[in-house]
Amino acid sequence: MTELLPNHLAGRWQTGGGPGTPLLDPVLGTELVRVSNAGLDLEAGYAYARDEGGPALRALTYAQRAGLLSAIVDVLKANRDRYFDIALANSGTTKQDSAVDIDGAIFTLGQYARWGASLGAARWLPDGETVPLAKDGAFLSRHVQVPTRGLALFINAFNFPAWGLWEKAAPALLSGVPVVAKPATATAWLTLAMVADVIAAGILPAGALSVVCGSAQGLLSPLRPFDVVSFTGSADTAAAIRSHDAVVRRSVRVNIEADSLNSALLLPDAQPGSEAFDLLVREVVREMTVKSGQKCTAIRRIFVPASCYAAAGEAIAAKLSRITVGNPRNETVRMGALASRQQWESVQAGTAALRRHADVLHDGSAVPLVDADPSVAACIGPTLLGAARREAACIVHDTEVFGPVATLLPYEGLPDALDQIRLGQGSLVASLYTADAALAADAALALADSHGRLHVVTPETAAVHTGHGNVMPMSLHGGPGRAGGGEELGGLRALGFYHRRAAIQAAGAVTDSLDGAAPQRSAPGH
Ligand code: NAP
Repeated sequence: MTELLPNHLAGRWQTGGGPGTPLLDPVLGTELVRVSNAGLDLEAGYAYARDEGGPALRALTYAQRAGLLSAIVDVLKANRDRYFDIALANSGTTKQDSAVDIDGAIFTLGQYARWGASLGAARWLPDGETVPLAKDGAFLSRHVQVPTRGLALFINAFNFPAWGLWEKAAPALLSGVPVVAKPATATAWLTLAMVADVIAAGILPAGALSVVCGSAQGLLSPLRPFDVVSFTGSADTAAAIRSHDAVVRRSVRVNIEADSLNSALLLPDAQPGSEAFDLLVREVVREMTVKSGQKCTAIRRIFVPASCYAAAGEAIAAKLSRITVGNPRNETVRMGALASRQQWESVQAGTAALRRHADVLHDGSAVPLVDADPSVAACIGPTLLGAARREAACIVHDTEVFGPVATLLPYEGLPDALDQIRLGQGSLVASLYTADAALAADAALALADSHGRLHVVTPETAAVHTGHGNVMPMSLHGGPGRAGGGEELGGLRALGFYHRRAAIQAAGAVTDSLDGAAPQRSAPGH
């Protein structure tokens, strides 16, 4: 039997009971390690995080906590090569795709270390201006944000075992809130390895960082009113979390990042042959194939003027036909595996459902695999579908296939395109391709109510834009409606989730005294 990896809870490593759940190599189908949290005392573990980790973190200033993040960055950089080995084995990703997760995590932590240092020697954040309550100004109202006294439970998806942990942990630890991470079981090894290295380095106070791997059962029951939950995953699990007693009766604050039917939109000015057209084609192919399309932000729907539909389909299909798929240990392979055979089945089923209503413009299922057994490997080529008929397109606005699959859709005029994009019921991101800056600004604003992020690609940004699907810590990540209604990142705005806001009503002498201990800059979002 393979090694059963322990969990880190209540300040110590604890092995769960039973044989555990095996984690597999999604290309070779072999067992790598096992995880189990059976029999763990979560109640005691959470209490330890709150009672030991919380006070120790809150005793530090923002700048000191930022120093902890910098030290974590150093540890992760020192062990980076091993993380790539684990990702290759357990996620089946190419080096480039693993970097999106691993280097993305390190970059995000580094950013929060820098921003945190700028908050200086404070332990709370001012929120807005002091305003008078009495006519003569002798009685005032001052809003403050202070770290919550609970813990932060992170329930993460399988596609980002590294970034998924640290993009949440960076703002939580900087805020002074202890973290309990529950990675998705299929790819939990990388999360565990990173946490083990950080714990071994002795950077964080005891109880500041815990990790529990395996079943999600009973995870939410021990939560208390000042705890927070940040969830990334499917809409179904999100619904189960939202309706849990901890949330419904104990007001545990929840952030949800769920699935999303993100769009790419070629604006009407951009015809075939234009630079904007080529930029859309390039970005669609990149989004469909990076991490085998297993990015919550990946382009799922591609909107082009009806006059460009045929040309766009041909151009995207031509590029997709050059993508090599298979074992990422072979250097000629551009696209590795899905995270598991279960995901492979789910992608097959989702694609089959879409194919019943759409045309196949490029068939990934026909692509021969490089160095991989198609009966074992969770590998599948990219598939481009086309839904030229409006009635056929309904399912496209509703079905997220979490793999290398996207659908091309024609539109008749910009208002029609915007209406169709909104049929996604709220998305994480839409990207717009055009050479017309004013048109781009109008379209971006028109879509801002239903998206967390609008990514505008104009020819002058061709070499510098950060990518439709790349989540940059400077910008908001999250989206309304179907996308879960959550907000993450966005610079120091992310700290708001881990702080409680309160109004202090008092005489000027009291509010002045508060301000003596305030950081130079105002609270996130103000
Ligand atoms: P999932 O089944 O919802 O699993 C996500 C996490 O929830 C895993 O850690 C899972 O643990 C845990 N979980 C399962 N049942 C639970 C329960 N009853 N209570 C609490 N936690 C529970 O999602 P998935 O299929 O792995 O992930 C793919 C989905 O995530 C896609 O739809 C994608 O769009 C979405 N996603 C969104 C974002 C974003 O930022 N918006 C990012 C990535 C992925 P186990 O692994 O042990 O089952």
